[in-house]
Amino acid sequence: MSLEVPVSAAVPCVAHPEVLAGGTCSRCGGFMCAACSTAVLGLEGQRFCAACAARPDVNYLEALRQRFWGRRDGWTWTVGFVTLLLCVGAIACFVAWGLGPTWHTLLAVLMLAAAPVGVAFFLGKPWARHALLLPPLVMAWVMWTQVSQPLWFLLLCASPGMLVAWGIHRDVRNQLFFQRPVTAKALRVLWDRRLNNPLARQALRLGVNAVLMPLLAPFAVIFGAVALTRVDLKASPPIDRRGYAIGGMLLGIVILSAWGYVLRAPLRDIARWLMSREG
Ligand SMILES: [Zn+2]
Ligand SMILES: [Zn+2]
Repeated sequence: MSLEVPVSAAVPCVAHPEVLAGGTCSRCGGFMCAACSTAVLGLEGQRFCAACAARPDVNYLEALRQRFWGRRDGWTWTVGFVTLLLCVGAIACFVAWGLGPTWHTLLAVLMLAAAPVGVAFFLGKPWARHALLLPPLVMAWVMWTQVSQPLWFLLLCASPGMLVAWGIHRDVRNQLFFQRPVTAKALRVLWDRRLNNPLARQALRLGVNAVLMPLLAPFAVIFGAVALTRVDLKASPPIDRRGYAIGGMLLGIVILSAWGYVLRAPLRDIARWLMSREG
């Protein structure tokens, strides 16, 4: 008998006792065979047994994907609402001015022409994702045939609409509504934005905005403090963003102190007045 052969080399797979294990699970450490060894999205280089790979805390990106798969996001509801407004607007045009070779009729027809795209988008028809890019361009083109303005100027007017449409087209959460394949990297970014201590992001945003709107400074401090209590580095996956929370709090405190210093004279007067009332 040779002691050079490690005991673990002859250990069978936990799930398949007739097969020798080829490795251990990265989470539970259980012995597993090649058939059991499972890769998990976003955790490249680690292998898990089937039971661990099915856990939502291990396979959190897959859990996130399933959570949003085929479910309407904020953009979809916005497109649906705008479509409703377009229909109401078109009907109002027809009722108010009737049909004829006028501006009003053209406007109403344009609004009605965009409505099917909006409805199909709301219902999740794949073609509508691409078609949503067209209405701003079509509007610019129709305007070009009607008014004596250069095309570049009209395209410039349509560019905010085009940028929004392009933003929706690229949005990962919206792509999940349309049940399109998205990369692990994109899911990871979505998870980071949605579930990795979003309150800390909010605290930093409030702190930055408080530079111009000092009334937001107390909220930056409060949000930052609450966000710090939500940090959980032992969770799977870890919840962090301490930097954001502390940054927001510091900005809030600095801005509050600065304004307290600037307003120290009137504040002292108010305090004195309050004390004289009590005394
Ligand atoms: Zn395991
Ligand atoms: Zn096995």
